[in-house]
Amino acid sequence: MADLYVQLQAVLDALPQMAAMVHDGVPVQVNALWRQFFGGEAVLESSLDWLMRVHAEDRALALAQWRSFLALGHVPAFECRLRDDTDTDRWFEIRLGSPGTKVPLRAVTMTDVSDRHQLRQRMEHSLHQQDRMLDASSDCIKLINLDGTLQHMNRAGCLALGVPVDEREFGMQWLELLPADNRARGRRALLQAGRGQPARFAGKSLLHGQSPQFWDNILTPMLDSSGEVSAILCVSRDITRQQEAEQRLRVASEIDELTGLPNRRSFNRRLRTSLQRHRLRDGLLGLMIIDLDHFKHVNDTLGHPAGDHLLRVLAKRLSQLVPEGTLVARLGGDEFAIVLEDMVDAQALEGEALRISTLTDCTVSYAGQVINTGMSIGCAQFPRDARDTADLLKAADTALNDLKANGRGGVKQFSRRLMAIAERAASQRLMARQLVSEGGVVPHYQPKVNLQDGSTVGYEALLRWSRISGAEVGEDCRLDEAFRDYELASRLAELMHEQVLSDIALWQAQGLQVLPVAINVAPVEFLRDDFAEKLLDKLHRFEVDPALVELEVTEQVLTDRGSAFVARALGVLKAAGVRIALDDFGTGHSSLAHLRDYPIDVLKIDRSFVARMVAEPSIRSIVEAVAKLAISLQLELVAEGVENSGQREMLLDAGYCVGQGFLYDRAVDAQQVAQRLQRPRRAWLA
Ligand code: C2E
Ligand code: CA
Ligand code: CA
Repeated sequence: MADLYVQLQAVLDALPQMAAMVHDGVPVQVNALWRQFFGGEAVLESSLDWLMRVHAEDRALALAQWRSFLALGHVPAFECRLRDDTDTDRWFEIRLGSPGTKVPLRAVTMTDVSDRHQLRQRMEHSLHQQDRMLDASSDCIKLINLDGTLQHMNRAGCLALGVPVDEREFGMQWLELLPADNRARGRRALLQAGRGQPARFAGKSLLHGQSPQFWDNILTPMLDSSGEVSAILCVSRDITRQQEAEQRLRVASEIDELTGLPNRRSFNRRLRTSLQRHRLRDGLLGLMIIDLDHFKHVNDTLGHPAGDHLLRVLAKRLSQLVPEGTLVARLGGDEFAIVLEDMVDAQALEGEALRISTLTDCTVSYAGQVINTGMSIGCAQFPRDARDTADLLKAADTALNDLKANGRGGVKQFSRRLMAIAERAASQRLMARQLVSEGGVVPHYQPKVNLQDGSTVGYEALLRWSRISGAEVGEDCRLDEAFRDYELASRLAELMHEQVLSDIALWQAQGLQVLPVAINVAPVEFLRDDFAEKLLDKLHRFEVDPALVELEVTEQVLTDRGSAFVARALGVLKAAGVRIALDDFGTGHSSLAHLRDYPIDVLKIDRSFVARMVAEPSIRSIVEAVAKLAISLQLELVAEGVENSGQREMLLDAGYCVGQGFLYDRAVDAQQVAQRLQRPRRAWLA
């Protein structure tokens, strides 16, 4: 028996955990670990002694287990904390067992599971933290299995997809939780992410009675250690506010603040859509571009508030004049556009444009002042004039520009002829630009001749060029369009002035008797207030007597805006001794009063009158009347474009003394002028 006891003790001591044999609830034999933990022999005295070491919180459980163990002989293992001899609580797994209720001998083992417990606790804590972290996110975060079932979803996700928030068992198909019309996009994204590529799709959900919610869904494949896709992380962000803000911005960025009309950007977009519609059915689409005449003048004289008022009133009137739903837009500045859709034919379109243009007759009053609301309207129609929006706009613009160039007001329909003119103008500007950048401006001089004896009395400098990109350009190519462009005209003039003055300086240096040279001035050159001063500076620099220079200005400069600049500039030049000629006289729209108001010395009757005077008595009368006018105003007279002796005779009869034209000579270069100046004055007797 004693032997058995010793053997059993050896077995117990060999166990890696505390172990005891209990008889009637009292430990009768314990192993060394047990003794070490509970200390001394006291452990054997009472069945409940070990329970004194159980943590207060675990004691009720331990006691209940112990009692049922004593009664039943067997209970499932349980865990509780025991205080060790250093007063530290450690976790133990306690197993109580017996061969059966009949046998009073029981076995108790207590295994220290503190490490395992700590690990589990840490894991639980960390899992809990992760859950909290995911739940704290306002994005919907989902972990999706490759078969499309949900593995996990955070709180925001549950709320958005209508899954109970405390749901812990997911496993449902993610796509089935999405609104039906988002599923196809969701499926594509899922497949793509399943293949290992990140995917993204936009979603929209509409909960009953609420405004729509917009989602940005990003699906990222999650790889396992072998690099295979094991699951898909889907993060869905609510971008509703962003979308709303963008929408508000879009609306704001498409509306003209001043008039409340669509602006150019939204106009372009809507015109494109309208054109697209018209491609699919018959019927015309008409585009009108409306430009206010003299708007700058309103701003300059009455102030910007008046200008703003004018724009607002006109915007309103235009909108009221057109059928409901018609696109009326402000393209910027003083430019409006109207798109007339589904017109039956060109006549109907024209009629409508004319009706709208009657608005021209109405005036607007502002702060007791009446503002004139003149308008110019350029029209183009689709499909006749253009194939796309850009061309249609260009066509209407071309018509408008033609109208503006010819005195403004009224309606102009686009035509192929206008396009040809516009294209020619564009190519002229291009050539002028090339000329400016590459150089090569070579003034030629056309003699002004005494009609009586054919002697040369002066020259007119005309712009010619030697080369453009290596090519010789013929004399028939003109640059009048470039002279309408402020930038180009100024730069061409700069080159011309330098050349002409250096030619004169050279002739002077050669001891020649230099005759006055006329220089043409484009109206836009006067837009700079220092025109006169700059020219006088140059004369000074080249040491050219101002009396040797004559400026040819057209009637247009006297009527154009900025005519105050012109009057000042001409006054300054005249005072310095430069003579002023009014060129192309009879073709402009100026009133004869200008002849009195501006310091003019010479009248050059336009060559179109000279060309027609022989055949048309009425033109001849005009030519004669101009001569009388000039004589009574004590202005010198010049006739341009004298091509034959018949014209010469008639001009002499009418009182013209000086003429210019192919009958005498074309423009020649500076060297040829020098040769002629050397010779005694040559007679051009017809
Ligand atoms: P413009 O001032 O009326 O110049 C006279 C134009 O008539 C010149 O044409 C000249 O070659 C042409 N002409 C001369 N005699 C006859 C004739 O008997 N019959 C016909 N049919 N034509 C004749 P061009 O040189 O082509 O100049 C055209 C216009 O270009 C000029 O008209 C002028 O307005 C402008 N221009 C020429 N050079 C300059 C310049 O340096 N500066 C500016 N601002 N304009 C210039
Ligand atoms: Ca001229
Ligand atoms: Ca002329």
